[in-house]
Amino acid sequence: MEWRRGQTLGHGSSATVSLATFPHSDDVLAVKSSELSRSESLQREQRLLSSLCSPYIVSYKGCDITTEQNKLFYNLFLEYMPFGTLLQALRRHGGRLDVSVVAGYTRQILQGIHYLHSNGLVHCDIKSTNILVGENGAKVSDFGCAKRVFDTAAPISGTPMFMAPEVARGEEQGYACDIWALGCTVIEMASGVSPWRNVADPFSVLHRIAYSGEVPEIPGFLSEEAKDFLRKCLRRNPRERWTASQLLKHPFVGELNSKSQAKEIQESNSSSPTSILEQGFWNSVEESEIHGKLIRTRSGNLGGDDRIRGLAEFSGEPGWKWNDDDGENWITSRGNNDEVRDAQSSGQPPPTDSEDSDYQPRADHIP
Ligand code: ADP
Ligand code: MG
Repeated sequence: MEWRRGQTLGHGSSATVSLATFPHSDDVLAVKSSELSRSESLQREQRLLSSLCSPYIVSYKGCDITTEQNKLFYNLFLEYMPFGTLLQALRRHGGRLDVSVVAGYTRQILQGIHYLHSNGLVHCDIKSTNILVGENGAKVSDFGCAKRVFDTAAPISGTPMFMAPEVARGEEQGYACDIWALGCTVIEMASGVSPWRNVADPFSVLHRIAYSGEVPEIPGFLSEEAKDFLRKCLRRNPRERWTASQLLKHPFVGELNSKSQAKEIQESNSSSPTSILEQGFWNSVEESEIHGKLIRTRSGNLGGDDRIRGLAEFSGEPGWKWNDDDGENWITSRGNNDEVRDAQSSGQPPPTDSEDSDYQPRADHIP
């Protein structure tokens, strides 16, 4: 099936995501692409995502390989999420979401996490730029760091700002790390600030998470229910952290309120542009992980500070700016083996604006 690469929707640490449109059809998909020779992680993501089916997970729509400007690209097609990322939703609402909208999104993200955990998968990189928003609310996306829970050979991966203490210490990365990251994401949604304040660089944040004994500050203005929910997510000991199925019964995200929460989410979205023609709007607010760096490291290679310093150093590519107030500069660390790869160099497809493009790749695997 023929398709056309449209405008860029986002850059991640490992790939570029563009709109994909189809001649003679109104269908629109998102396409996540990276150069074929560097697409090992994207192909792994395809294998994982193609086995999943949940209303709370961004759906897989096929894959193909194209030639663009004499280079081969691997393309992964996804359902298009017209309201962008949770961070973009946050910014559209002045940097803070209403608490009932936060509760609604939290329930949906939790349902996505619960589905993954029930299928033996850990996402490993839950954060606001990996949650996408559509007409009916939030869905979990970006499976570039995801792994089978019993895959003990899998390396430590994720974004330092959202890492759980046991992950920052390189001890383990099981289901409980997604719950910690959910807690961090809820703080960000409710308050508009990053979970850890006053941290100067990746080493400091990783060190503080690993060894300080602290948890992220829970915003004082939240309801008691919301605070209690966060305390259950942000227990430093992963064995004491609540599971996704326990949290789904917590009153903060209770079933009782789910109908009114769904309505609030729809109302909250109704002020947002829905047309692709208005995508220019997204570009003006686009958060980007373009400064992120793909890190491949095995837990346990180095001990304590040396291991954390190693992670932090890999994050410090030139031009990368640390800013604890701004999600766009949070970095992603992920990997499969000991090599370190720069995901930003030429592995990205050429930016193409649909109207001017004469490029028409073929997507033979799109259903
Ligand atoms: P990476 O693995 O490189 O971080 P992501 O899958 O997180 O890549 O995608 C990068 C960005 O692209 C997202 O933060 C978002 O802005 C945009 N994006 C990704 N998937 C979609 C989608 N299905 N619909 C709309 N935008 C998307
Ligand atoms: Mg991402």
